[in-house]
Amino acid sequence: MMKLFNMSKKNSEIKNDETEYIVCPRCKQEVFKEAIVCPFCKFGILAYVNGDIDKNGDAVKKLNKKK
Ligand SMILES: [Zn+2]
Repeated sequence: MMKLFNMSKKNSEIKNDETEYIVCPRCKQEVFKEAIVCPFCKFGILAYVNGDIDKNGDAVKKLNKKK
């Protein structure tokens, strides 16, 4: 019946527990953790979540490379 919804199947999967928000340290807006950059201020959210940059946007040198 609702064939149109088939197209958004992938999106609905993301809506589960994995969907988390993070408050952008620069503009204080809630953005997807999965977002690569903040849609509001272009802050590098992904790099921040990964710990590559700090809340000021400065590159963080990782002393411990853990994998
Ligand atoms: Zn932002």
